Amino acid sequence: MPRKNLPVIFWRQFSVKSGTRSNNPHGAYAKLRPMMKKAAIVISRFAPSPTGYLHLGHLVNVIYVWGITRALGGQIILRLEDHDQGRCRVEYEAAILEDLEWLGFEPDLGAPTAFRAGPTCFRQSDNTTRYEGLLQDLVAQDLVYTCTCSRKAILARIGAPGGELRYDGHCRERGYSPEEAGGIRLRLDDETLTFDDLLLGTQTQHPASQCGDLLVKDRNGNWTYQFAVTADDWEQGVNLVIRGEDLLDSTARQIQLAQYLGRTDAPRFLHHPLIDDASGKKLSKRDFAKSLRDYRREGKRPEDVLGEAAWRVGLLKANTPLSAAEAPGLFLDVTSAFDIPSLNTKVAMTDILDSVRE
Ligand SMILES: [Zn+2]
Repeated sequence: MPRKNLPVIFWRQFSVKSGTRSNNPHGAYAKLRPMMKKAAIVISRFAPSPTGYLHLGHLVNVIYVWGITRALGGQIILRLEDHDQGRCRVEYEAAILEDLEWLGFEPDLGAPTAFRAGPTCFRQSDNTTRYEGLLQDLVAQDLVYTCTCSRKAILARIGAPGGELRYDGHCRERGYSPEEAGGIRLRLDDETLTFDDLLLGTQTQHPASQCGDLLVKDRNGNWTYQFAVTADDWEQGVNLVIRGEDLLDSTARQIQLAQYLGRTDAPRFLHHPLIDDASGKKLSKRDFAKSLRDYRREGKRPEDVLGEAAWRVGLLKANTPLSAAEAPGLFLDVTSAFDIPSLNTKVAMTDILDSVRE
């Protein structure tokens, strides 16, 4: 294998560099490039999947992304992660765009008008040519192989895992054969990665033993979340990833994949708390959580639902209204009316800005 095993890597932030790829099917990256050259600019993203309506859990992420990024004077990308074409629907995309406008959150890139106009690089299903190019880069490095295993077959071999399903490398020696039906997996090095989460502190993960060789494309031909999100974060110059704690385990594998793709400047990561419902379970669309649409039908105002979302994760002391414009204030001044138990904001803000500027 051409790639040599690397020692334990301590991923600190790097200066923001202009990407090396210039393929630009839709023109939007022309706007990104100048930003990416300015090392001090934070670029983050809000990246929902149009597999359902927005709910309070999304709003928590919206508040963190907009609040922190605006407080830092950064830029926000709206990206729609419709890589799984079997589960995404156009009416959900339309609803997400309309709900964000109703809430008062305006992205700097990936504006609703751009999505409504047609293909855009901020919609993952429009990026298949670019993803295919990146896959060929991995093929050229002999890093991927065809995997014909179903989930059922993997489970039959390894037994019920209890936690995350770890692929056992059954097809590792098969090689890459695009004409053969099956998924495509990336050989992960036996590598321990350490990174600093801006809220949770130092994290150490070992993807090879957590998930095993990473699925790049599934058996139905869909690009996977891990691949599409890593490719997009790199291409779009995202240097601060703000997302829920449920995605913490995905981080090292995305850092590893980004390395294999050629990214030299790992983004910083901040994983924030999630809303627990009465039973302590995370809210999700699959749990039929109450959607933003339901709140709207009840006559709630944007500031009512944003206030409730912020309160449910401890960003507000009480369930009081919060407007989109007030979100940055949550993260700017600990001496204000907002007391944030989970976030020492002044320290965190300084840390984020310093690290992105390094
Ligand atoms: Zn397999």
